[in-house]
Amino acid sequence: MTSVDLVVVGAGVVGLAHAWHAVRRGLSVTVVERDEHAVGASVRNFGHGCFTAQDGVAFEYAMTAREEWLKLGREAGFWLRECGTVVKARHDDERAVLEELASVREISLTDEGAFLPLDIRVNPREAVHSIAALLASRGVTFLWSTNVLTVEPGLVRTSRGEIACRAAVVAVGHDVDRFFPDIAEERQIQRCRLRMLRVAHGGVIDPAVLTGFSMLRYEAFARCPSTQLVRERLSHDHPELVEAGLNLMFTQLPDGSLTIGDTHHYSRTVDPYRPEDLDDLVLTETARLLGVPSLHVLERWRGVYASAPEPFLTATPAPRVRAVSVTSGIGMTTALGLAPAVLDDLLQEL
Ligand SMILES: Cc1cc2nc3c(=O)[nH]c(=O)nc-3n(C[C@H](O)[C@H](O)[C@H](O)COP(=O)(O)OP(=O)(O)OC[C@H]3O[C@@H](n4cnc5c(N)ncnc54)[C@H](O)[C@@H]3O)c2cc1C
Repeated sequence: MTSVDLVVVGAGVVGLAHAWHAVRRGLSVTVVERDEHAVGASVRNFGHGCFTAQDGVAFEYAMTAREEWLKLGREAGFWLRECGTVVKARHDDERAVLEELASVREISLTDEGAFLPLDIRVNPREAVHSIAALLASRGVTFLWSTNVLTVEPGLVRTSRGEIACRAAVVAVGHDVDRFFPDIAEERQIQRCRLRMLRVAHGGVIDPAVLTGFSMLRYEAFARCPSTQLVRERLSHDHPELVEAGLNLMFTQLPDGSLTIGDTHHYSRTVDPYRPEDLDDLVLTETARLLGVPSLHVLERWRGVYASAPEPFLTATPAPRVRAVSVTSGIGMTTALGLAPAVLDDLLQEL
């Protein structure tokens, strides 16, 4: 039977973040992924390192993660833009939120709203695969197309046999309830389903772009007193958009096309049907934001992430085993800062 220091279950950004930090601490690491390459939330997102708009421990993780992204970008050689984020203020109450944010974060107020200089963008379709390739070149073993069945202290059973290990991290995103239903229930973990589209675009829009709708979704905005006014106005003027959980935002991919979105729907089991009117809402609002009559859709997809009242799940289902999931839709922003904290705690048990 193979034996390693650490088995990581899941090759999304959370699993890779643990593998990256563990291998740098000198541990032998095996990553087990059920698909032949990662196809989960980590490749379906905006690729937005949304550091500035986080708060509390998420902000701490985010700022650590920012340094790690820059290091990984250099070492793995993937496309990464230190482009910042523009937050468009289209109403006085949104401008007031940004003025309040400027008193706690280093951002610049501009004619159109605010510029958040620290944020970054990666191409999620490339970054996660590049990180896996870098880790493989540093000695991490990847078992692709291998389903993990059970995780116990010292032993991981997979569809291709057993692996002995000193410790294990289960980083399976929203599927944490498949392994640990009681923990998932206790932490009120649900699946959040998001609608995403990629549309053609002619010009260059380097920063990520957020709007007043985004102010309802990120914690640093939530702390600003005027955000309540934004919420009340948007709920009154656009109840269908607030009901759909719209976070009107976009990021540009290297080929110039825009990833646009998104809407949020919460349930434990994801409904398979996709009402077309949600995409219509996103397309109409994005066209309005860009000041164009219509948009040409190139791709549509659905993303799912774990969601819970607490932003992060780190649980100990058994000795020397950790279940880790980012339960707030900010795994690209925070995972690389969360992982060292998890490992500090886990390695004390060895
Ligand atoms: C549409 C969308 C947009 C988003 N935008 C952003 C953004 O711009 N910025 C940001 O910070 N965050 C964003 N997020 C959130 C972010 O993408 C997630 O928080 C993050 O990707 C979660 O990473 P993960 O590794 O936990 O999950 P995943 O990427 O889903 O990876 C989990 C992996 O575990 C594997 N797995 C599951 N079960 C098993 C098993 N039994 N055996 C082996 N492998 C298994 C799966 O195959 C999968 O590859 C977005 C999410 C979505 C869905």
